Amino acid sequence: MSRLILAETRGGQLTTATWHTVGAAAALPGPLEMLIAGWPLEEPIALPAGLERLLLCRHPALAGQTPELLADLVASLAGRYRTLLAPATSFGRQLLPRLAARIAAPFIPEIVAIDGPHRFVRPAFAGNILETIQAPPETSPLLLSVRPSAFPRALPATTQPPTEWLAPPATSLPHAAFRGFRASPGDRPELGSAAIVVAGGRGLVEAEGGFALLEQLATRLGAAIGATRSAVDAGLAPGDWQIGQTGKIIAPRLYIAIGISGAVQHLAGIKGAGTIVAINRDAGAPICAIADYVINQDLRKVLPEWLARLEAS
Ligand code: FAD
Repeated sequence: MSRLILAETRGGQLTTATWHTVGAAAALPGPLEMLIAGWPLEEPIALPAGLERLLLCRHPALAGQTPELLADLVASLAGRYRTLLAPATSFGRQLLPRLAARIAAPFIPEIVAIDGPHRFVRPAFAGNILETIQAPPETSPLLLSVRPSAFPRALPATTQPPTEWLAPPATSLPHAAFRGFRASPGDRPELGSAAIVVAGGRGLVEAEGGFALLEQLATRLGAAIGATRSAVDAGLAPGDWQIGQTGKIIAPRLYIAIGISGAVQHLAGIKGAGTIVAINRDAGAPICAIADYVINQDLRKVLPEWLARLEAS
C-alpha cells in the first residue's frame, strides 16, 4: 500500500506544489516515500514530515526534470508502489501521461479531493461538475496528479528519512534535451499560489493606460497578475499569465477581475477563489453574478480612485 511522491524541484528545492501534493497523500493509507530526481539538488533539501524513505537521483542529464527521461526512471520503480502522486503542474502534466502509457497504468488527473483509499474527486466539463472516480481496489499502481490549491501544505520534517541513491536512467535523449530555465522577470508572487491575484481582460485593451494602472494596483497589494485569454491574445500579457480552462487554475484568497466578462472557460480557473471583486461597466456580465463585490463603473475611473485611496491610507 505504499505511496510515492514524484517531486518537482526548482533551484534544487521542492516546489510549493510538491509540498501540497504531500498534503494530499496524507489522506491515503500506507508508508510514504518521495523520489527527487534532478540537477542540481541543493543540500540540505527541506523535506516535508511523514516520509519513510527518500529516493535521490542526481545527474546532469536530469536538469530541468525532462519528462521523457524521468518517465524512464519512474517506470523502473513503479512496481514497488500502490499509488504514485505528482503535482498537476506542467511537471506532472507532462510526466504522468507518459508514465501511464509506458507502464500501462490507470491515471486520474487533477484530483481535488480524496474520499477514501480508492475514491477521488476531480473537476470535469471546464470545472462545471465534480466527478467521483472509484478505482478498483486491486489497481496497482495508480497514478494521480494533484491540484495543489485543493490540499493543505505538508508540515516540515524535523528528522531526515533514510536515503536511497538511485543510478540515473541509462536511456539517451534523442528527441528532447533541457536547454535552460528562465524565470519570469519581477518579484511578484507566483500566480498559481498567490494569496491575492489582480487579473485583466479585454476591457483593458480598450482602456488606454489601463494595464499600467492594474500593475500599480497589483504592486500596491503585493498581488500576482493574471489575464484572460483575450488579454493574452491581444498581447497585453504573456501566455503563462492566462487563467482558466486552458490556463492556470488558481485559488487566491482575493481575486480582483478588471474588465473581464466571466466566460465559462475563464471561470473554470477561479473556482477555488475566496472573495471575488469585479470591476465591469456592464452589470449584466456573467462575472457580476458570481462576484462578492461588483464595482459597476468604468475601470478608467475606478482604478485611479482606488490607487489614490491606497496612497492616502
Ligand atoms: P470579453 O468577454 O470581451 O469581456 C471584456 C469585459 O470588459 C466586458 O464584460 C466589458 O463589459 C468589460 N469592459 C470593457 N471596457 C471596460 C471599461 N472601460 N471598464 C470596465 N469594464 C469594461 N478564456 C480565458 O480567460 N481562459 C481560458 O483558459 C480560456 N480557454 C478557452 C478555451 C476554449 C476552448 C475556448 C473556445 C475559449 C477559451 N477562452 C478562455 C476564451 C473565453 O471564451 C472568452 O473569450 C474570454 O475569457 C473573454 O475574455 P475577456 O473577459 O477578457 O473579454
